[in-house]
Amino acid sequence: MDEFKPCPFCGSTNIETLEQGPFPARLSWVKCRECYAMIKRKGGELQKAAAAWNRRAADHTEEGENDGDISDGAGDQGAF
Ligand SMILES: [Zn+2]
Repeated sequence: MDEFKPCPFCGSTNIETLEQGPFPARLSWVKCRECYAMIKRKGGELQKAAAAWNRRAADHTEEGENDGDISDGAGDQGAF
């Protein structure tokens, strides 16, 4: 399993990964168990979700950058 950086929102290292559905429509995501922040990627590419998570964790001081589909617990409601 890949290593994940601490949650960019709460700093927790209690991170889990999930995959759901059949390839190629598989949905992969990385989720913080503490605050439920998550990053999702379609296409069964958990590596990309993991990379996006780690990139977000590294860049979390840069507010306002919109690189896609992170949400802080709102599920599929999208960014607001
Ligand atoms: Zn968190």
